[in-house]
Amino acid sequence: MIDFRSDTVTKPSAAMRTLMANAEVGDDVYGDDPSVNHLEAFAAERHGFEAALFVTSGTQANLLAIMSHCERGDEYLCGQNAHNYRYEAGGAAVLGSVQPQPIDNEPDGSLCFKKLAAAIKPNDFHYARTKLLSLENTIGGKVLSLDYMAQARAFCDAHQLILHLDGARVYNAAVALNVDITAIAKHFDSMTICLSKGLGAPVGSLLLGNREFIAKARRIRKMLGGGMRQAGILAVAGQYVLEHNVARLQEDHHNAAYLAEQLNTLPGFDTRRYPVQTNIVFVDVAPHIDIKAVALQLREQGIIMSPSYEKMRLVTHLGVTKSDIDKLIACLQQLL
Ligand SMILES: *Cc1c(COP(=O)(O)O)cnc(C)c1O
Repeated sequence: MIDFRSDTVTKPSAAMRTLMANAEVGDDVYGDDPSVNHLEAFAAERHGFEAALFVTSGTQANLLAIMSHCERGDEYLCGQNAHNYRYEAGGAAVLGSVQPQPIDNEPDGSLCFKKLAAAIKPNDFHYARTKLLSLENTIGGKVLSLDYMAQARAFCDAHQLILHLDGARVYNAAVALNVDITAIAKHFDSMTICLSKGLGAPVGSLLLGNREFIAKARRIRKMLGGGMRQAGILAVAGQYVLEHNVARLQEDHHNAAYLAEQLNTLPGFDTRRYPVQTNIVFVDVAPHIDIKAVALQLREQGIIMSPSYEKMRLVTHLGVTKSDIDKLIACLQQLL
């Protein structure tokens, strides 16, 4: 199957499976898993943080970050479109008693500092305590610039806020900006990375920050049922993708640009409202096309996508080649 739904659908390669089969393991709750310990030490050093925690998912990494930075009755500033506001089942509020204060994202995905400043609550017992700003990069496939991230750091310093990055796809941002990951990471007090998206590991995310923060997150991870035992089987896959699958993200970005270009040649498909910056393509589909029926017929030909009329999303990843895109376009031409 050729799957355009998300970069979460990638399957582990033969090399990765061999590593996983042979991984040295121990009980990670006892701190005994050498592969997890190695990954955490490697990740901390590689991204310029004191410590790292290997966790089950990006959702858990964000929740741990918010709960470790904030107390009950605190609040965090984020975008209306932030994953940790919109798509994580309200975890920060439900489990952390931390109130989100969302701000409309600007068209480029950023948050306006004027609007953020206006949302910071006065130090008065009527209000929640504004503690944290959470950004996301990439956000909806868009890249926040280095300059914007530096401004966010200065803004947080000026207002005594902690700065967190939901970096589920931060490596896509680094590759698009053509910088080392540390040029992004250095601005943030904490950062998450999804190993299981475009990077191609089967399971797992990283949370990065200082020692005290990670120690707190480790305690909360246990509380949330996220303490894993012989997790080294997964950690070696995560380590592998950090070492081998970063540079190739460029290919996904090229393929996404090519996909958008090809979609625009089809009558009734238009990506022009959504310039492609990384591996995510959005396309508007004309209402006369029965896109659900098209998606069903594509599936019979081995192609999976999530149909919608406005802002239909297609994602490129290591399981999608240029000739897969040609196949999709040829099938669409025929069906239309
Ligand atoms: C996917 C994603 C997450 C959550 O990751 P899961 O591993 O699916 O829980 C968080 N933030 C962003 C920006 C994401 O794209």
